[in-house]
Amino acid sequence: MDLIRSTTVFLCLSSIAFSQESMDFDLDPDLLPRPLIIEFSESRLKNMSDDILMHCTSWRVAVEANNLGPWKTIPNECADYVKDYMLGRAYNVDLEKVSKESGIYANSLELRGDGMDAWVFDIDETLISNLPYYSDHGYGLETFNNAQFDKWILEGVSPVIKPSLKLYEEVLRLGFKIILLTGRNEDKRNVTVTNLTHAGYHTWDKLILRGENDREKSATAFKSEKRKEITEEGFRIRGNSGDQWSDLTGTSSASRSFKLSNPMYHIP
Ligand SMILES: [Mg+2]
Repeated sequence: MDLIRSTTVFLCLSSIAFSQESMDFDLDPDLLPRPLIIEFSESRLKNMSDDILMHCTSWRVAVEANNLGPWKTIPNECADYVKDYMLGRAYNVDLEKVSKESGIYANSLELRGDGMDAWVFDIDETLISNLPYYSDHGYGLETFNNAQFDKWILEGVSPVIKPSLKLYEEVLRLGFKIILLTGRNEDKRNVTVTNLTHAGYHTWDKLILRGENDREKSATAFKSEKRKEITEEGFRIRGNSGDQWSDLTGTSSASRSFKLSNPMYHIP
């Protein structure tokens, strides 16, 4: 990463973490030097042509609506657009909306009181964020590198996604059992628990990671299988929150699923 880009990313992340009290996407202040307050979003979108802006907005809507086939990287021409979306206010506003609507739905449900009403959460880009990693890797412009990403995960410093923490606390208060279902491999269990705890998540009934036999399965297949096992145990999956359609679709689906925004990567 060259110096200019590095500086830009630092300023942007600092801006997210410290400049807006309303900004619920929180980065660990220990990870970054003291902030300089710079507003990022004014700059790049102004330089983007209307055609590119419209094209990239359309692309992002198609991503979120699950209308695209499998994709490996974001479109080159949308690099600045995705960066701006992630670092500006829009991403957080979208996450707040999902959290709020999920909470309204959760509150509308009548729980049976037998302790078997459950809410499933994905982890990455749902409860905690890997945006610091992706800021170093083009916000999805680079092809995914498993080894490098694993190294980041093992640091265990993925910051909390505050709107999701709020929803988590609400469904917990309402009496749902929390089930965490992640595509992370089993060997990341300890660091995942540490990271989640540090991020503010303290209670769950199950934390399900990929075992040895799950390695080759698509996320959709793996998560469907695990949801089936959960329901066979007697749990009723009333809600499911995830940033990938593969968290939500397949079989043994939740009564209602909530898709968090993520234009940076696609997991089939
Ligand atoms: Mg995820």
